[in-house]
Amino acid sequence: MDIPRIFNVTESAHRIHNPLTADKLATLGAALRLERETRVLDLGSGSGEMLCTWARDHGIRGTGIDMSPLFTAQAKLRADELGVADRVEFIHGDAAGYVTDEKVGVAACLGATWIGGGVVGTIELLAKSLHTGGMIVVGEPYWLKLPPTEDVAKQCHVGSISDFLMLPGLLASFGRLEYDVVEMVLANQDSWDRYEAAKWLTMRRWLDANPDDDFAKEVRARLTSDPERYATYTREYLGWGVFALMAR
Ligand code: SAH
Repeated sequence: MDIPRIFNVTESAHRIHNPLTADKLATLGAALRLERETRVLDLGSGSGEMLCTWARDHGIRGTGIDMSPLFTAQAKLRADELGVADRVEFIHGDAAGYVTDEKVGVAACLGATWIGGGVVGTIELLAKSLHTGGMIVVGEPYWLKLPPTEDVAKQCHVGSISDFLMLPGLLASFGRLEYDVVEMVLANQDSWDRYEAAKWLTMRRWLDANPDDDFAKEVRARLTSDPERYATYTREYLGWGVFALMAR
């Protein structure tokens, strides 16, 4: 079981597979006022940076599920490196429908809300693992500017304009689900650059090391077009943020 290969190539050197920098991830951990021994579930945990650093900084206990064997292996190495392997576990698997036996205080999904069929379904899924009074934490895109055409949305690698809302609309949508938004940390253009531009050097290094790989043509095409596409579209139109929610 694995994710499409392109992600395992372009994001192989990322610790954080979303548009937050390490600083912003630390800000989020502090903003949530995590108490020691709080159990945190992370669906689509990537390379485990959130759970590992929060275990180190706040003494949480974490479980992460991710479909990429590569990212899951990297998460385990990171836990060893930060000395938190006794506090966090990383499971390789499909997180769709995943519910914990023991309820958690924080249930998170950052940048992987397709796991629950969209942000609404993911909130419903996370809620099943959450104990009363716990916090749901979701990382989700929103439009900074509404794309004038569907083609602009596609150039942002978004299926349709209607896939995402603008920030006020997204915040209001949580209210309609009977959740209070109790915190948020947003990406900005600089932190988006850390996520997107870091892929370019990774792709270039991969191409230099794997010139004869079947996949080289696809990676080359991406590296050639991505900087301009990103600067024209994603960077201008797409925002991204993490929202902490508590049921009313
Ligand atoms: N939350 C992490 C990773 C976000 S990238 C971070 O912010 O760093 C999206 C992640 O979802 C990738 O790690 C990918 O491997 C994982 N993923 C995609 N589909 C999945 C599924 N069905 N179940 C579990 N993980 C999945």
